[in-house]
Amino acid sequence: MFTRLYLHIPFCRRKCPYCAFVSRESTAADRDGYARTLLAEMGLAAQAFTAERALESVYFGGGTPSLLAPRQIGRLLERAESLFGLGPQAEITLEANPGTVDQERLAAFRSAGVNRLSLGVQSFHDPLLKTLGRIHSGAQAQEAFRAARTAGFTDIGIDLIHALPGQTLPMWRRELEQALSLGPEHISVYGLTVEEGTPFAVQYGEDSPLLPDEDLAVAMFEEADSLLTAAGYEHYEIANYALPGRRSAHNSGYWRRDGYLGLGCGAHSFLRKGYGVRFGNPADLDAYMEAVAQGQLPHGEEQSLTRQDAMAEFMFLGLRMADGIGDDGFRQEFGVSPDETFGEILARLTAQGLLEPAGTRVRLTRRGMLLSNQVFARFLP
Ligand code: SF4
Repeated sequence: MFTRLYLHIPFCRRKCPYCAFVSRESTAADRDGYARTLLAEMGLAAQAFTAERALESVYFGGGTPSLLAPRQIGRLLERAESLFGLGPQAEITLEANPGTVDQERLAAFRSAGVNRLSLGVQSFHDPLLKTLGRIHSGAQAQEAFRAARTAGFTDIGIDLIHALPGQTLPMWRRELEQALSLGPEHISVYGLTVEEGTPFAVQYGEDSPLLPDEDLAVAMFEEADSLLTAAGYEHYEIANYALPGRRSAHNSGYWRRDGYLGLGCGAHSFLRKGYGVRFGNPADLDAYMEAVAQGQLPHGEEQSLTRQDAMAEFMFLGLRMADGIGDDGFRQEFGVSPDETFGEILARLTAQGLLEPAGTRVRLTRRGMLLSNQVFARFLP
């Protein structure tokens, strides 16, 4: 049913004004109670769902998972290992906010079993970090990276955001250069999305003149592509770059439709059963805690995918990756080729310059990456 485990930690030191993730401020007692609830939920899930084999990856996402104590992370990993098994090469990622870690804490996470760190740098430029409401400075981000290296992390990812209010192309280039100067194994580059219901939506509504226009946002995407690939990073997914052999195994699993179990409030799961089953936990922390306290799995209704749903998902998730999708994988799963199912759509997207053949595979062109949402919408049933 699954080979990957996601644990959502819904706590942050302070809520950032652009953020629509499930997260809120917390006390040490809140975090302690939550970690115990996660352990209990894991036990309930192990009775209901079976891992296909030992876990290939575990991902602590948030929120700010680095707010949990290393011993809490260690206990969750021990429980995951005893209930589901942990593969010998399992990738175990912790998202860390640079404002919450020092070398000692990072070394303790490493000893607890974390072997990959995803550092939420977002920017090295202090005025932009202030605009984003982040708790760290550019200097702290650099210090956190170096501390992680000294603490023994050999697999570190950095997240950056572009198309920020007031950001220019030279400013963005400088961000990329600073990231490269640290030599991370992985760099994720996201364009700012102004999410409904956030303070940013009020401050920077649709078409705000304070935000970079579309041409500048495209130039920033292209600048990242040319600088990072010139430095030896593979642009392996729309927003992700990695040194050879350092792609995120966990996230690659999402795009390949591997089964994953999501635990914690607001977490989502995808189980390989039939054409796939999706379900999610409540985003409301109290409702989540209450359900688990009563010995119930907290998730809502399970949605079983139809063959049509699964074929569409295969296309729009697989096309996110620069390798694109191949005939073989699709045929193995559905007994037909993508061409037999989506021939007309594929031909039209290719004629529009959004898709291109690559050997026996098909993938997004550079333009297709920029217009990916339009491409993906074409496959929806
Ligand atoms: S640190 Fe990340 S998850 Fe937390 S509020 Fe800020 S953007 Fe959201």
